[in-house]
Amino acid sequence: NTRITLARRPQGAPVAEDFHIEQVSVPQPSQGEILLKVLYLSLDPYMRGRMSTAKSYAKPVEIGGVMEGGTVAEVVASNHADFKPGDIVLSHSGWQSYALSDGKGLRKLDPDAAPISTALGVLGMPGFTAYAGLLTIGQPKPGETVVVAAASGAVGSVVGQIARIKGARAVGIAGGPDKCAFLRDELGFDVAVDHRAPDFAEQLKASCPDGIDVYFENVGGHVFEAVFPLLNTYARVPVCGLIAHYNQDGQAPAGPDRLPGFMRQVLSRSLQIRGFIQTEFSDQRDSFLKEAAGWIADGRLRYREDVVEGLENAPQAFIGLLEGRNFGKLVVNVV
Ligand code: NDP
Repeated sequence: NTRITLARRPQGAPVAEDFHIEQVSVPQPSQGEILLKVLYLSLDPYMRGRMSTAKSYAKPVEIGGVMEGGTVAEVVASNHADFKPGDIVLSHSGWQSYALSDGKGLRKLDPDAAPISTALGVLGMPGFTAYAGLLTIGQPKPGETVVVAAASGAVGSVVGQIARIKGARAVGIAGGPDKCAFLRDELGFDVAVDHRAPDFAEQLKASCPDGIDVYFENVGGHVFEAVFPLLNTYARVPVCGLIAHYNQDGQAPAGPDRLPGFMRQVLSRSLQIRGFIQTEFSDQRDSFLKEAAGWIADGRLRYREDVVEGLENAPQAFIGLLEGRNFGKLVVNVV
């Protein structure tokens, strides 16, 4: 039974030494408990926040604690009436190969309905985040321009495709020519812009001749700086993530105070900037699962997974996620 714990809190970008890989015995389920064998572990940007004590919407992982994470697991032993060996479940078992559960919060998956790893991606938390954030806050209308960054990733790829389904024009921002080609050729984005190009801001402006009506914010940093001047009057900005800043642990870098100028633009252009955590919209989960499954079946919603083999490779893969080295939804095949 391999498990990965938090060895120390990262200073800036996480490094391998911030994690500890250890071998422990497989636990035994007591009455009312089940033993889960983890098959897939989801790696997500929010985990950087759990490594830090900076003020957040969720508690940090303790030093020496198992890293938190969403998982797809198989029931291998059960003392619980609702679960039997062989059941496949969505769980939150973290970075370890075996875990106990009392059954609370588990969702049974049907392996015949969809590949089970999709419960961590396109049909899971990231896909749902895209759906709820875009449709509830972004509210794209036919003919409008929707821009999303980290567009080849788990959330962004779904945002752009749902924007297209709703009749909007989808502009994706991604790092490098391969990801941009994938957005255009595989996912059907109208335009893709490489945020690493030296003339990125000019390219983005040329790609949005009618301005931007919805900007789904995943990144912050230099991407938001290029987007902000292009926002139209009444533009909506669902603030989903700020991955470019996660290694700053909540500390703003020194610099001039640009907040008054920013607020002036929010006022004069009637901008709606609204942050959210996906759990806020959990009452939409059933409609999401139904609609997304339909869009996948009719080919309008495609997905790409970046599967890393072996739990011991999770730390390096996670470090890479914060640098844009993943290409698609990052999952670890634990077995
Ligand atoms: P992705 O699969 O998109 O992977 C992260 C990507 O972010 C990288 O591949 C990279 O893509 C991009 N990136 C990383 N650093 C930078 C940077 N400095 N500047 C620009 N781009 C960068 O991750 P997810 O789809 O899982 O998550 C996307 C965002 O959504 C994150 O901010 C995450 O925290 C947020 N989120 C929020 C939720 C909520 O409830 N509010 C729930 C789930 C996710 P590239 O190479 O294209 O730059």
